[in-house]
Amino acid sequence: MQANDLLHLAEQFGSPLYVYDAEKIQSQYNRLTKAFSKVPNLRINYAMKALSNVAILQLLRDMGSGLDTVSIQEVLLGLHAGYAPEKIFYTPNGVSLEEIEEVHALGVQINIDNLSILEQFGAKHPHVPVCIRINPHVMAGGNANISVGHIDSKFGISVHQLPHLVRIVENTDMNIVGIHMHTGSDILDIEVFLYAAEILFDAAKNFKNLEFLDFGSGFKVPYKKDDIATDIDELGKKLSKRFNAFCAEYGKDLTLIFEPGKFLVSEAGFFLAKVNVVKQTTSTVFAGVDSGFNHLIRPMLYGSQHHIENISNPKGKERFYSVVGYICETDTFATNRRISEIKEGDILSFRNAGAYCFSMSSNYNSRYKPAEVLWMNGQGYLIRAHEKFEDLLQNQIPLPTEVAATV
Ligand SMILES: *Cc1c(COP(=O)(O)O)cnc(C)c1O
Repeated sequence: MQANDLLHLAEQFGSPLYVYDAEKIQSQYNRLTKAFSKVPNLRINYAMKALSNVAILQLLRDMGSGLDTVSIQEVLLGLHAGYAPEKIFYTPNGVSLEEIEEVHALGVQINIDNLSILEQFGAKHPHVPVCIRINPHVMAGGNANISVGHIDSKFGISVHQLPHLVRIVENTDMNIVGIHMHTGSDILDIEVFLYAAEILFDAAKNFKNLEFLDFGSGFKVPYKKDDIATDIDELGKKLSKRFNAFCAEYGKDLTLIFEPGKFLVSEAGFFLAKVNVVKQTTSTVFAGVDSGFNHLIRPMLYGSQHHIENISNPKGKERFYSVVGYICETDTFATNRRISEIKEGDILSFRNAGAYCFSMSSNYNSRYKPAEVLWMNGQGYLIRAHEKFEDLLQNQIPLPTEVAATV
């Protein structure tokens, strides 16, 4: 996508606006499947919590993707988007037995990540195909908030509890068809990932009826200039070889599953916001935009760096800015960032806005959520409208007048 296309979309649909480039999602999907083309049975389950607009789900479905879900509501959205139940995978954490049973009843593959629920589910529903989530205790990335495989993580069943796990499976006559791990959000070191994979292979040997091994995700994409990304081709080469060797040893062609979110959609997304005010203080120049962490929380939540361009003045002289939002508390998108000269009314474009941006947005400060546009074949399609005042009132119930009168 060109900056000019984005500028036209901002004019056409207004700001703030999310724009997703379908071609980029497709090319990322193809990159991943190509890197693992030597694995006979490969399955990509898009982790829809990254970006859950139904049009995006349908786009990925048409590419052949399955779906990775973390809540029953995501399962229902996936079914609504036309995914067959067997293409949906459910990997919750800390949810009730009842929700897991409901999802199972919909025909969706469940993945259980703690011994308590495993034992309860197995006792009530023997023979049901179940996947188990293992925590291999491998620290994949540097940030403890997005690294979920380490020792203090709430995710997965510790690999050290395997003997207990095996005993529960035997006692309840459960049918374990898959083993899963998801070590965290940043695979920077392929050797570390392969080490975790070995732990999964070892765990897998305890189960006779496996159909698949699910390696989760954690593919890192570049955010800043000079950021290192996961080397997909190298990972593909090394893991495919090792996986195929394991299948030979196991005596069956298992399916290899990945569940990428960020890798598929992050770089396809652009967030466009208009500069309301340029404010010079004694120490910095603020560019205040018509948005805030209610629409894009990652900088405030994780300290994420989204590259920002002034697409209204791409060739302008670069100056230093702090880009801030309109929410009434600290609301900083970027500090001391080099951006081509900003005037009030300019449109700023934030990169890597496809994953965990709209899906984490809220109505804080009673602001409307932005619209979303899918860019396909040189055209922008509105896939979610800007919210309206009625949306803020939806589900709010006024007190009955006689009760209100007693206050
Ligand atoms: C969030 C999540 C993913 C996707 O992670 P990304 O870093 O976006 O690729 C995959 N699997 C599970 C279980 C998740 O919770």
